[in-house]
Amino acid sequence: MEAKDLEKKEERSLNFLERIIEDDLANGRVPNNTIVTRFPPEPNGYLHIGHIKSICINFGLAEKYGGRCHLRLDDTNPEKEELEYIEAIQHDITWLGFDWGDYLYHASDYYGQFYDIAVNLIKDGKAYIDSLSAEQIREYRGTLTTPGKNSPDRDRPIAENLRLFEEMRAGKHAEGTYVLRAKLDMASPNLNMRDPTLYRIKFAHHPRTGDVWCIYPMYDYSHPISDAIEGITHSICTLEFEDHRPAYDWATSIDGIDHTPRQYEFARLNISYMLMSKRRLLNLVKLGVVSGWNDPRMPTITGIRRRGYSPESLRDFVDRVGVAKVESLVDYNLLEFCAREDLNKRAKRVMAVLDPLKVVIINYPQDKTEWFDADNNPEDPEAGTRSIPFSGEIFIEREDFMEVPIKGYHRLYPGNEIRLKHAYYITCTDVLKDDEGNITEVHCTYDPESQGGTTPDRRRVRGTSHWVSAKHAITAEVRLYDKLFLAEIPGEATGDYLDDINPDSLVTLDNCKLEPSLQEAKPGEYLQFIRTGYFMADAIDHKTSQPVFNRTVSLRDSWSKKVKKQNL
Ligand code: ATP
Ligand code: MG
Repeated sequence: MEAKDLEKKEERSLNFLERIIEDDLANGRVPNNTIVTRFPPEPNGYLHIGHIKSICINFGLAEKYGGRCHLRLDDTNPEKEELEYIEAIQHDITWLGFDWGDYLYHASDYYGQFYDIAVNLIKDGKAYIDSLSAEQIREYRGTLTTPGKNSPDRDRPIAENLRLFEEMRAGKHAEGTYVLRAKLDMASPNLNMRDPTLYRIKFAHHPRTGDVWCIYPMYDYSHPISDAIEGITHSICTLEFEDHRPAYDWATSIDGIDHTPRQYEFARLNISYMLMSKRRLLNLVKLGVVSGWNDPRMPTITGIRRRGYSPESLRDFVDRVGVAKVESLVDYNLLEFCAREDLNKRAKRVMAVLDPLKVVIINYPQDKTEWFDADNNPEDPEAGTRSIPFSGEIFIEREDFMEVPIKGYHRLYPGNEIRLKHAYYITCTDVLKDDEGNITEVHCTYDPESQGGTTPDRRRVRGTSHWVSAKHAITAEVRLYDKLFLAEIPGEATGDYLDDINPDSLVTLDNCKLEPSLQEAKPGEYLQFIRTGYFMADAIDHKTSQPVFNRTVSLRDSWSKKVKKQNL
């Protein structure tokens, strides 16, 4: 490709936000030529995968254009905030690999400025104290097709407005008695411009400001002014705020505010079979549908981290989804595909038998143990090797044996020879059963000359099984997860997402047999249990004495199959 074509390609691959930013930079519209974005979560829950998109966009753009991204906790709703959430938000962003540096803010830091700006608005006759009830305000506001009506308080004298606002602040009026409203336009086609409420009375304790305030600002007032105070250049949010943009532009052009950020909207991330709403996720926690915000089935960052996803795979996922202005539903399988792509590169291969069947190798010397070298990751030679013990009694997966094999079955059955990964060839000679006819044990012979995956006569075997030496094995609990919801869009057909819960989203296996090296496994270490999937020690329940592993994702890849089939 010629340089010119390369340039074009690069240009084509810019998303619309990058194009806006490059254009602004090229035309000198960015103060100090420094892009300043922000991620402004409301600390009323744990962050979810949807937020990752916003985090990657905001921190990513700042990184790409050498600017900075602020973390601003939008703590203007005092009843809902909790310090637990604030700590979790910071931890999650850091884990994803982003850094706000010195730029950590709280909207509550600006309460004093919000108040002063409001007082000036009143003095300028641009805001008034309204005594209409919330319900009346709604009625007076009108609808999309009918204009609103002016409140009888709209022309209250300035001095009285000032006095009342001061009294509100001093706690002299009950909740719901008064609000402060901007005097904009009750006939505006945009409902958000029909005299939006700026302040309401709320006698609530705030985690940071305590009981200093009993009036709290509304989002359409506090958010744009926070952006202006911090010198945000590009205020990037999701599409549902598009209708709020005129209110945003109004607030950032109030007299005395000397910086003008611009708001841009992108389509929020929706993923099939998942809920992306803190309110609903909180409901799942409250109802006990899941064990907590960090349940590995939750789409929260804390949940998927515990499940075993890496930050890199999540960033890759968001990258593949892209940035657009059109709402879409992203296939859940893409998320799993990204996890497999990433884990295939980094996960340590180990042997674990989830549903054990004992195999006795009758011609192997009793009490003998041999140690074989096993590579930790064939994708990464630097990952090295480890030693695994072999003895005359091993476990294999129950599904790797069939007494009467179906057609095409190449694994173990009477008379058939298979390869044990990293060890010998074995041939089944006998099947033992209990009184009810359940298979309890399988007897085999081994070929001492077959160690290393082949024999001197290069005999052909078609099946390879993973295994664990019985006397060296550690017993573990393994948790297998599936989608939390059975419907692509939970609640869409049933009317209630709770009716779409998958009753089999968690299957617990409590007698899994693992190779002894897993005694050292720790949460945060990426593992592949050969032939079964990617796993990670559970961050909460795993103990060396009682190991617990979560399945991150199975090895089966339905995404690339689907892509191939549809020729995408
Ligand atoms: P929720 O609906 O889950 O409560 P929210 O939008 O109320 O989400 P905030 O804490 O206000 O959550 O969000 C912080 C930022 O994350 C906002 O800029 C918001 O637009 C963005 N965001 C939230 N959900 C998504 C999503 N699904 N996709 C992309 N960005 C999102
Ligand atoms: Mg919100």
